[in-house]
Amino acid sequence: MRLSILAITNALQSQNRKKLSPLLFSLSRSFSQLSSQSQRPSFGIAFDIDGVVLLGNTPIGGSNKALKRLYQDSGDLRIPYIFLTNGGGFRESKRATELSKLLGVNILPCQVVQGHSPFKQLFNRFENEFIVAVGKGEPAAVMAEYGFKNVLSIDEYASYFDGIDPLAQYKKWNIKHAASENSTFKEMAPTICSQRVQAAFIVSDSVDWSRDIQVLCDILRTGGLPGRETGHQPHLYFANDDLEYQATFPSERLGMGAFRIALESIFNRIHPNPLEYTSFGKPNPLVFQNAELVLKQLVLSLCPNPRVVNHATSESHRFRTLYMIGDNPSVDIKGAHQAGRPWFSILTRTGVFKGKENSSEFPADLVVDTVEEAVEYILRKESI
Ligand SMILES: [Mg+2]
Repeated sequence: MRLSILAITNALQSQNRKKLSPLLFSLSRSFSQLSSQSQRPSFGIAFDIDGVVLLGNTPIGGSNKALKRLYQDSGDLRIPYIFLTNGGGFRESKRATELSKLLGVNILPCQVVQGHSPFKQLFNRFENEFIVAVGKGEPAAVMAEYGFKNVLSIDEYASYFDGIDPLAQYKKWNIKHAASENSTFKEMAPTICSQRVQAAFIVSDSVDWSRDIQVLCDILRTGGLPGRETGHQPHLYFANDDLEYQATFPSERLGMGAFRIALESIFNRIHPNPLEYTSFGKPNPLVFQNAELVLKQLVLSLCPNPRVVNHATSESHRFRTLYMIGDNPSVDIKGAHQAGRPWFSILTRTGVFKGKENSSEFPADLVVDTVEEAVEYILRKESI
């Protein structure tokens, strides 16, 4: 399935303006020193997280030191930057708090763009529809914060169907039944099995592939009514399509793209029509367009004149350079290349890429050992 890029871009622009406006006041104070120089930064930075600034929960590559350089001594933000990650599973506000603790700087929720962040643009379409959210962390809470009113995690949803997972008795872990504390679903509980699922959102990496593939196949091949006859496939969205990513284990781990391949391969064997789906996340050019808009809003907040801030539009500032710092050539570097100017790609050797030279398949504009080196390069080039 293909969504109209123009429609989504327009939605992103209007949504970003609406969502970010309350933050502009506080940010304008943060940028006050730069704005007093009457100069808006002509550059911005997007950091990948896994394999660049963190491995698991451990800062890597001098990331603490590098990020501190983007702030004034007072702790106010000096250089506009965001995190642009395909990861997720937690609300942006919660992730910002966690990152602030791990990295020792004050990170705002609007600086965290996750793989599932574009799902909020589908709010108008599914606001009141019954949807299922899949993945580690709090996938239903993520969707609820975006405004979706009738969302259940796949853990909760599967728990209403006796025997839907024939292997459940062999699984040692316990699933928290948040639905039982959720008043909306207390009322809905007796009818959940007969409510048609309109869409499934893969918010973050599936924890239990065997159960999730089984239940998703049930939903997708029956028109959203597991156990019933074949029907029209409900909508299916993935937050990213990463085949592999770097975690704490020495070699890469299978990501959401691998899960998608498994689901698609199986679905296509048991259903007459091939699986239809939409994937977001890097290297999708839409993600880079959105990142540019978010960075523009950050820069516009530099303006000390509230009249201008209130009327700020995404067109009123142009970047000369936007730096994408990533560890994965096929995701971060390919994405920045596809997005074109003003994106400039920097590849680190702290994650997926470990080569001596450049990536042969998706060569970066610059290769460095660590994120600290990348920031050093940027600040020198920008004469900061
Ligand atoms: Mg990465």
